[in-house]
Amino acid sequence: MADTYVAEPDLGFIKEVGALGGADLKKCYQCATCSVACPISPDNKPFPRKEMIAASWGLKDKLISDYDIWLCHNCGDCNTRCPREAKPGEVLGAIRAYAVGEYATPKALSKAIANPKMLPVLLAIPAVIILVMGFIFNSFGLNWLNFSIPAGGEIWQANFIHNYLVDIIMIPTFFGAIAVFALGLKRFLADMHAQAVADGKAKDEKIDFGKVGQAVVSTVLTIIKHNKFSECGENKERSTAHMLVLFSFIGLFIVTNCFFIAEWVLHIEGPYSQLNPVKWLGNAAGVALVVGGILLLRNRMTKKDQASSYWDWYLVGLVLVLGLTGMLTQMARLAGMAGISYTLYFVHLIFVWSLFAYTPFSKLAHLVYRTAAMTYAEYTNRQ
Ligand code: SF4
Ligand code: SF4
Repeated sequence: MADTYVAEPDLGFIKEVGALGGADLKKCYQCATCSVACPISPDNKPFPRKEMIAASWGLKDKLISDYDIWLCHNCGDCNTRCPREAKPGEVLGAIRAYAVGEYATPKALSKAIANPKMLPVLLAIPAVIILVMGFIFNSFGLNWLNFSIPAGGEIWQANFIHNYLVDIIMIPTFFGAIAVFALGLKRFLADMHAQAVADGKAKDEKIDFGKVGQAVVSTVLTIIKHNKFSECGENKERSTAHMLVLFSFIGLFIVTNCFFIAEWVLHIEGPYSQLNPVKWLGNAAGVALVVGGILLLRNRMTKKDQASSYWDWYLVGLVLVLGLTGMLTQMARLAGMAGISYTLYFVHLIFVWSLFAYTPFSKLAHLVYRTAAMTYAEYTNRQ
């Protein structure tokens, strides 16, 4: 006699997936058109139909550990072909949002970041940290937060908020985010492997580290070249926006590290000349971030087949504000507008801190979870 499987639906999960952008889930009548239409779904156990079934049954644990949800690149081809307008691509996006919240710790922060009403509080946190830390260091006579800069002097952001203060705040935040990711990733990898073995998509055998290395290289190349996006039919143009944002973040990361080494190792203080090649890279990356953000915004506003949730808008807003405040801070400095430049810099730092601290809880976490899932799929030869 066949084993009996008793599904234990998590009704709260179904409700949350709906709130995160998968509200049309219930319209699905499981025709499988979406799995056929998806350009990147494998032949063996294709997505997203099976995820639509599992989601409508409320199988939370099965879904959050299903690496197929991360192989989806939200191209929308399935959305336009679904005869019931159930928007399977959106449902997968909502499940990914839920999964990020499940794997990130603390959960209360996940909930706060998913709640638009909490945004002012979340942005106030870095503002308070900068001010309080600045006043503390000032009380020791360090003058790292300076509101009385003499008029007519050189405009330099470090005169207002010293680079040491910025580093002391940002570096622990950055490594804190890495730690949150590490904890989440550890659980995700274990769950993903157990689920893949249970589903017959992988074998429970000894890890071949050589093969892992090959899978990592292959996945990174696929991501850099945006191969998966180019397979999309409906939303091909997302590739350009995504590429600009990804490369701008990589560029800005390089620039930040160069200036960090210049300051702490070589003891070269700014402001740095506009002719400095690292500045060129920073400016190019900044422009790419703004243009990428505008394209993301346009894409979200013009695509009628894709419903955009707060989860999506948060990322678009973050990218745009980061890019604009960064570029405008510099432009105001070059134009000699000290007050505006310093104010914009303060806002920019609030968003930089938010980028670091909230990324493991936000849509940007896909950078880690999708890379892990794609690497695992490559390693296990998912076809
Ligand atoms: S989501 Fe749409 S296309 Fe996919 S199985 Fe359901 S009804 Fe069919
Ligand atoms: S959104 Fe695109 S990648 Fe994702 S399941 Fe649908 S067709 Fe496939």
